Amino acid sequence: MNDDIRQRIRTIPDFPKPGIMFRDITTLLLDAEGLKLTIDRMAEAVDGPVDLVAGIEARGFLFGAALAVKLGAGMLLVRKDGKLPGATIAEDYALEYGTDRIAIHADALAPGARVLLVDDLIATGGTARAAVRLLRKAGAEVTQASFVVDLPELGGAEALRGDGIHVHSLVA
Ligand code: AMP
Repeated sequence: MNDDIRQRIRTIPDFPKPGIMFRDITTLLLDAEGLKLTIDRMAEAVDGPVDLVAGIEARGFLFGAALAVKLGAGMLLVRKDGKLPGATIAEDYALEYGTDRIAIHADALAPGARVLLVDDLIATGGTARAAVRLLRKAGAEVTQASFVVDLPELGGAEALRGDGIHVHSLVA
């Protein structure tokens, strides 16, 4: 499935550190047909109306914004903490060593807004699950998430499903 998309994603071994196989979507973005196919297929998989697409910094912004335009939805930025200019709410999540924090503008969401979460890739799911907690804390109704790539052996998509999210990805 989606071999035409898979073959446009490049793998760079040992980036950003030894042992990581980095799935590089910049080659997919460079390819006009590949980019269009990606957004079209992500859009086809969307289930029901979406008020806002929430993209995770930074590559989730690219796919998220294109998808938002196609769906007629707005675009919400889930950013690394400290980047947004207005009042924010934040959520911490565990990394291999230490923690990280993501944030959204506190006034970005109307209560009950139907939000689709988007990122380029789900690995352990730590980032996406923190984003879901944050969006729900802000009053959003988050029931679906879309990724270009899933790394199923890391269990992130399964964990996200356990959080009540319908998870879609194009390539595993
Ligand atoms: P995780 O929180 O473990 O699911 O990691 C997901 C985030 O890290 C996403 O924003 C991805 O862009 C990035 N990421 C994690 N692993 C990889 C990988 N092997 N190749 C490319 N990006 C990755």
